[in-house]
Amino acid sequence: MEEIVSLCKRRGFIFQSNEIYGGLQGLYDYGPLGVELKNNLKTAWWKSVVYNRDDVEGLDTSILTHPDVLKYSGHEDTFTDPLVDCKSCGLRFRQDQVPEQCKGEELTEPRDFNLMFKTNVGPVSDDSSLAYLRPETAQQIYINFKNVLDSTSRSLPFGIAQIGKSFRNEITPRNFIFRVREFEQMELEFFVLPGDDEVWHQKWIKNRVSWWKEQGIPSEKLKLLTVTGDDLAHYSKSTVDIMYKFPHGEEELEGIANRTDFDLGSHTKNQKDLNITAQVKNNVDSNTRLAIQNENNDWVVPYVIEPSAGVDRGVLAIINEAYTVENLDNDKKRTVLKLRKHLAPIKAAVIPLKRNNEELVKLTHTIKSTLQQYQIGRVVVENTGNIGKSYRKHDEIGTPLCITVDFDSLEKKTVTVRDRDTMEQKTIALDEINKYFIDYFSDVES
Ligand code: ATP
Repeated sequence: MEEIVSLCKRRGFIFQSNEIYGGLQGLYDYGPLGVELKNNLKTAWWKSVVYNRDDVEGLDTSILTHPDVLKYSGHEDTFTDPLVDCKSCGLRFRQDQVPEQCKGEELTEPRDFNLMFKTNVGPVSDDSSLAYLRPETAQQIYINFKNVLDSTSRSLPFGIAQIGKSFRNEITPRNFIFRVREFEQMELEFFVLPGDDEVWHQKWIKNRVSWWKEQGIPSEKLKLLTVTGDDLAHYSKSTVDIMYKFPHGEEELEGIANRTDFDLGSHTKNQKDLNITAQVKNNVDSNTRLAIQNENNDWVVPYVIEPSAGVDRGVLAIINEAYTVENLDNDKKRTVLKLRKHLAPIKAAVIPLKRNNEELVKLTHTIKSTLQQYQIGRVVVENTGNIGKSYRKHDEIGTPLCITVDFDSLEKKTVTVRDRDTMEQKTIALDEINKYFIDYFSDVES
């Protein structure tokens, strides 16, 4: 983990947030390369869940959330973690995350700590202006169910997908970007007829595992965990977590829950007329019926299958898998980030042999602009004047191709293309480089 954290900072993937003022715990900023990697991961998810299917719509909702949403969802009452104080050092911990040094000490009785961040909307700060920063993106999907249905004429089964920030005031944020207080989620709420839920639950578990494999996570590092007992949320009929072997241990990467009709049933008006099976709070505030008519024109509250993945945990898992230190023949080592092509923050670096040679530099810029036009991803000019150093840097940040422009480029109209993983160098005709670049990236998974 330490090597990954250090690489992330040194090369501009991830920084401690608010660092120049001492930092804020549990918050991180994504740097120039981190933002590209994260965007590429989110794009891959969006393509897989929305574009490559015909039964999912997208949504982008507000982060500030009406307190009634989180009252009826149950978050105000139950979105808590058990908090304990160590009587010896005075520090506070989540009950299941007491560090070794405090385990032998006397701890207070656990008490519930609500993880939601509160704020006020408008110039008056009192209970009437209370709002929450959403603790998950899902709730705003449920409350938009009718808007999406009316504007798209969907019928069951269909899903609504959203990627966005969520906020949880975690008692003990830790393990770099694994457990943070501000993070991003990629959530799909897939609405199905009651009775079809178990089959769809299984389909989504399979689908999501195979997607993570496409992002470069090998099957042996992934495990399915069926959530049982007290860990199973009260609304869930069944939850399966995709667990990944993070550097600090095996933990949840994504959860896939069969949430029954709890969510739409909680937020709908006229609950009594709708045969809701889940135990929901009596809703006296909603002004909208969140149900759909079946073939017999009866109103049905759909069941929800929810694959919910963390973007930040995904980034950590992907960097962890890609991070490789190789022993070279000359007794040296090289660090290489073997990211899948579609995730690489920079697709190609174009490098002039001499940094001050006008002709070489001009040609380098021309190649960069031409390749950039294909919109496959970011292409950069790397003009350090030191080819070896440039290769090392781009190995370390996962750039699949380095294209070197040398004097042969001017005389014989060729460039040298170096492959990140094999370190193989090929001479390619200048007028072939566009095709080479397009072909190389044509088989990206997403
Ligand atoms: P955990 O048990 O690890 O606290 P959770 O079960 O509360 O996670 P969910 O509510 O199911 O998590 O959220 C869905 C996904 O959002 C998780 O699988 C995870 O990838 C991500 N996630 C949740 N909390 C955090 C956090 N504090 N920091 C980063 N990602 C998070």
